[in-house]
Amino acid sequence: MRSIDRDPIFVARGEGAELIDVDGNRYVDWMLSWGPLIAGHAHPEVVEAVSSAAAGGTSFGAPTEAEVDLAAEVVARVPGAEMVRMTSSGTEATMSALRLARAATGRDRILKFAGAYHGHVDGLLAEAGSGLATAGIPASPGVTAAQAADTIIVPWNEPEALPMGEFAAIVCEPYPANMGLVPPQEGFLDKLRELADETGSLLVFDEVISGFRVARGGAQEREGVVPDLTILGKVIGGGVPAAAYAGRRGLMERIAPAGDVYQAGTLSGNPLATAAGLATLHLLDEEAYGRLDALTRSLAEGLETVAAETGVAAQVAWTTGLLTLFFSEEPVHDYEGAKRCDTERYGAFCRAMLESGVYLPPSQFEAWFPSLAHGHSHVERTLDAARSALEALGASSRRGPRRSEALR
Ligand code: PMP
Repeated sequence: MRSIDRDPIFVARGEGAELIDVDGNRYVDWMLSWGPLIAGHAHPEVVEAVSSAAAGGTSFGAPTEAEVDLAAEVVARVPGAEMVRMTSSGTEATMSALRLARAATGRDRILKFAGAYHGHVDGLLAEAGSGLATAGIPASPGVTAAQAADTIIVPWNEPEALPMGEFAAIVCEPYPANMGLVPPQEGFLDKLRELADETGSLLVFDEVISGFRVARGGAQEREGVVPDLTILGKVIGGGVPAAAYAGRRGLMERIAPAGDVYQAGTLSGNPLATAAGLATLHLLDEEAYGRLDALTRSLAEGLETVAAETGVAAQVAWTTGLLTLFFSEEPVHDYEGAKRCDTERYGAFCRAMLESGVYLPPSQFEAWFPSLAHGHSHVERTLDAARSALEALGASSRRGPRRSEALR
């Protein structure tokens, strides 16, 4: 919120696609806790599942049927998943998947893409999008030189820039959403698969955002590219802390106790998280994805129309359940393109939207999260607010060059 020069709102409660703050203001919520709540706040079936799980005990540190049921759901949906290990956060899942990749290949170096965020894993914090991009932090202090040296960073969507090195893992968000949404260009994910195969590197898809959101089986199902390892988070826990990594049986069997690659977690796969995750996944059938796609399309096309009618240069990047509005004359293909956009204008827009009761991610380096709880009226309220906000912005920009003080 600092980047849009606002105090944060303090939340009292959430209802479906709406958020109510401690002062009683009601907002259309396009953040939805940064992605886990694909069914909206406090969906009755999720609340019921969590409540009844809690009544039977909140953590055992021993196997439960629900944990196995959730793993089975993941395997049934995600093409690259044959075996699953639960963790409590996306960061932890990424860290563990990279340890496994290093063990399996006997290599140290990781290839990652500029503008991609994979949680606060030490070695992956350079040129990470999300909060680091918002705060203008190029690389975090506290990361050792050795960890940084093991991470090679290349631009997204540039096949010519891909190095032929021997990596433990090529890790990407197949639908990057932490520099704003910047989908892969035609054939780019296939290129990554080929590069991994040619160099003996493992291809790791971080589907913490895209998993169970852009399709039943995530981006890998939509794009027809199967990674060696998949990282899942957010939707898999339905708003309660849960994440996972999954992959081919031969690889996953290296993890302790079946194998020698150690990883564990006191609360991983706990009954509340598995109950919320299972209840959420049960809501996600083909009809639900059709509805989510239509809702996202109506928001995206509406924003394009409003931008065109108010004469504001904007690009709407979107796919099922994800959207970013970039203030730019040209489409955004990579992190450099995202950084060239008018982020001050985004800040002013975002603040105006908040004043009108629409809660957007307070940074352009993030995605909006349309959900099954949003309906036509939420889209209409958002487009009405956007029209007023863009009219005001368009008028101010015609008065002269933009000034940073305009935001203050
Ligand atoms: N990977 C991606 C793609 C993410 O978007 C995030 C969080 N926004 C993470 C990993 C880290 O997940 P967590 O915050 O649960 O640690």
